[in-house]
Order: sequence, then C-alpha cells, then structure tokens
Amino acid sequence: MLYGGIEVGGTKIICAVGAGPADVQAESRFPTTTPGEALAQIIAFFQQYSLAAIGIGSFGPISLNRGASDYGFITSTPKQGWANTDLAGTIGRALDVPVGFDTDVNAAALGEWHWGAGKDLETCLYLTIGTGVGGGGICNGRLMHGLLHPEMGHIRLPHDRGVDPFAGICPYHGDCLEGLASGPALQARWGAPAESLAADHPAWALEAHYLALACVSFMCILSPQRIILGGGVMSQPQLFPLIQREVLTLLNGYIQVPAVMQHIDTYIVPPGLGSRVGVLGALALAGQAALQQQAVQ
Ligand code: ADP
Ligand code: ZN
Repeated sequence: MLYGGIEVGGTKIICAVGAGPADVQAESRFPTTTPGEALAQIIAFFQQYSLAAIGIGSFGPISLNRGASDYGFITSTPKQGWANTDLAGTIGRALDVPVGFDTDVNAAALGEWHWGAGKDLETCLYLTIGTGVGGGGICNGRLMHGLLHPEMGHIRLPHDRGVDPFAGICPYHGDCLEGLASGPALQARWGAPAESLAADHPAWALEAHYLALACVSFMCILSPQRIILGGGVMSQPQLFPLIQREVLTLLNGYIQVPAVMQHIDTYIVPPGLGSRVGVLGALALAGQAALQQQAVQ
C-alpha cells in the first residue's frame, strides 16, 4: 500500500509518499504561501502516484466534526489568507482518495505511537514546543478527540510574577503555557531568539519549570505511559534532564510507578521519529483512513 502524507505548517509544507518510515519513496517541500498556490503544488506532487489514501496533519484551528459543513477546513486562523480553507475536501476530490485529516500534533502523536517512542503503549502523549505549543494524545489506542481537538498549549500554569515578571504573549490568555514557553515567548522574554541562548542561560531552567508543570498536569489527567517532547525548542538537549528532575520534584513522590520514579529518563523523551515526526505522522493518518475506508466497504 502506498500512502501520501502532508504536514501543513505555518511556514512550510512537507509531502511524502511511502508506507512508513523505512519506506519513504519521494518527498517534496515548499513554503506555505497562499492556499491556492500550496494546494496546486500538493496536488501536482501526488498526481504522479497511485495512492491508497492521503493523510493531512495541519496547523489549526481545524474542523474535525464529520457532520459539519466545514469538516476538513482550516477555520479561524490568523494566518493571512488561510482562514476557511478547505484542505481535506479539495485534496480528496482532486486526487480521488480517502483522506485522513487531523491536527499536526495529533498526526505526530499517531506517528510516534505507530513507529516511534510511543510504540507498543496504550496511552501516550506528544507535545510540541515550537512557534506554538500543542499536544496530541493516544488514549487506549485511539487519538483523543471530542468537542474539537485538545488545545493542550493553552492550559493555565502557576505563574510567580516575582520570579518571572514576563506577562506572556498568548493573544487570548497572556500567560498560558504557550504564552510563557513557546519559542516566540522565549524570544520576547529574553530579547533574543531561543536558538541563540547559551545552554547555561537561566532561560532553560525557567523553561523546564513551565514544561514540567505542564507535564505533571497532563500526567495527572491523562495518565500517559510516556511523554514525548518535540518541536524546535526541544532541540536544546539540556532541557530533558532539567524537565525530568523538575517533574520528580513537583510530583513529590505521588505517582508511585517505576516508569516514573526509577526511569524518568525513558518516560520523558524526544520523538523517536526525530524531525520527520510531522510528515510521518501524516502517513500514519493516511494508513488509518485507508483502514476506515475498507471497514465501510
Ligand atoms: P513550527 O512550530 O513553526 O512548526 P519549530 O518546531 O521548528 O517550527 O519551532 C520554531 C520555534 O522553535 C521558533 O520559535 C524557534 O525560535 C525555536 N527554535 C528552533 N530551533 C531551536 C533551537 N535549536 N533551540 C531553541 N529554540 C529553537
Ligand atoms: Zn493561550
């Protein structure tokens, strides 16, 4: 079975054709210009192949309610020109294939669960810390959906303004998780791009504190068997031990399982699929869409 995967990001779009991580036969990437131009590029690329299904992991917010007239759309994004864009419908009709459609982080979570650090687990969590903060959860072997899709980047955290007077940059909430800990938040607080801050800069201990607070909340609510942290900010390797130690401190001995108490280094981990997690996750969504299509027939 040959699948197509599309990672639709705010700055770039990555397309791949293959069956999984060990079998990627073609790849293409282009900047996220206008919807018209990007959709034409996506369709032209995939038209060369005979595909069983396509998966799309997209930035959001997106509509995932199958009964709604805007199912498969990017809805109210502030990204210029992209509000109310019919991604899944346009691509599915042009290529005449089943389409799996989900958030970029849900796609990544599914990819990690199939082939990466979440393999063989029933319940795991993927968080990205990049331009935004977002999370996707696999719960008992299924991606979590509900009212909409999880918006894990916008949880509120204890924020001690005596220690960190920074007000946060979320346009909706100020100092939510994304407002305090995304890449642009780091840049706004410290006056320099996150990637330019030295490994021993105080930014990282504070960042680890916020990410650990978030991990502890997600652990208490979702009980994930592993937490996978990806995104540009997590390419600072010193963050992992800082977060792991801080999670143990914050838990204060409360979650008494060996996977956490004795093996925190394999409990909070980077993506097994590395930087290809997004597009490979989209391939996993395609596989899921093909299976659902078979079940219907
Ligand atoms: P996106 O979230 O847009 O898909 P990324 O996950 O690469 O893309 O996140 C981009 C953000 O990550 C930017 O805010 C950037 O400053 C930050 N970032 C990228 N590389 C690094 C790095 N090596 N160290 C720290 N922050 C980084
Ligand atoms: Zn917010």
